[in-house]
Amino acid sequence: MTTAAVSTMVHARAPGKINVFLKVGSLLDDGYHDVAIAYQAVSLYEDVRAYPSDSFSVTVTGTVDLSRVPTDGSNIAIKAARLLAARTGFRGGVRLEIDKHVPVTGGMGGGSADAAATLLACDALWGTELARDSMLALAAELGADVPFALVGGTAIGTGRGDELSPALAKGQYQWVLALADFGLSTPAVYQELDRHRDRHKQDIFPAMTQPTVDANVLQALRAGDPHMLAEALHNDLQAPALNLEPSLSEVLELGEQNGALAGIVSGSGPTVAFLAADLDGALELQIALSAARINAVRATGPVHGARIITV
Ligand code: ATP
Repeated sequence: MTTAAVSTMVHARAPGKINVFLKVGSLLDDGYHDVAIAYQAVSLYEDVRAYPSDSFSVTVTGTVDLSRVPTDGSNIAIKAARLLAARTGFRGGVRLEIDKHVPVTGGMGGGSADAAATLLACDALWGTELARDSMLALAAELGADVPFALVGGTAIGTGRGDELSPALAKGQYQWVLALADFGLSTPAVYQELDRHRDRHKQDIFPAMTQPTVDANVLQALRAGDPHMLAEALHNDLQAPALNLEPSLSEVLELGEQNGALAGIVSGSGPTVAFLAADLDGALELQIALSAARINAVRATGPVHGARIITV
């Protein structure tokens, strides 16, 4: 049983993500849906610093709207630290400082990145030396997107999105992200999709059918070609997100009128991700969106998963 902290501070960093493809299958008994996702980690990072403490606490700073981030035990970073302590028998606590750059409730997995970075940071701080497989299993308990935040790069997620397999990918993609000044709740967007399917008696995926990632997405990622990927971008959650927030249609249109190869609602939204042909295209698009008073940030992908920066 580990009781002694082995370091005075550990700094870990984990990326946000864009779902370049997301297909939603059946609603499962546990309330989750079967999904098929192609994830790409992008260069918006969450920084987590972990300090020794007898109790569990978190403070949050950052460049995004922090008003919806809890600082009590419901913060997913605290949940991650407590889970790691419980499973490894570590008896102390941790003081966490999160520096956020991924938009909150933006459909880009910011909370998941915090959880992944916290697992790594606490494991190093506490010297618990959890095996990689066990850490991935803890990550999946914390949330469907947390394993991908650990792994990063480009990957395919099935099941709830947490059963990962690597995807062959090359090249760097230039993204422009239109950030909203409101959030969309992931469960609310899935419920809107279910309501739509019920209304239209659309049983697209009978219970036994697993959704899969389309071959043209895998081919585009293998080729590293933004034009091909733009053609293949797909998100089943886009229509329900647009139903809940019709103003996002105008954002999509504006980006496509200003040189984006394609735009897509990221995950459950409301962030809209635009794929540009190259860096110049991305810069022009960022300027055009900013001129329309849209908060637009650039990011590249794929990038590495969670890692320790300093011990
Ligand atoms: P995903 O794309 O994985 O569905 P998201 O990017 O849309 O997630 P997050 O910002 O990760 O959304 O988290 C959304 C919810 O989780 C918010 O309601 C927020 O109150 C809660 N939350 C708990 N911990 C955190 C955290 N560390 N950072 C952000 N939100 C958190």
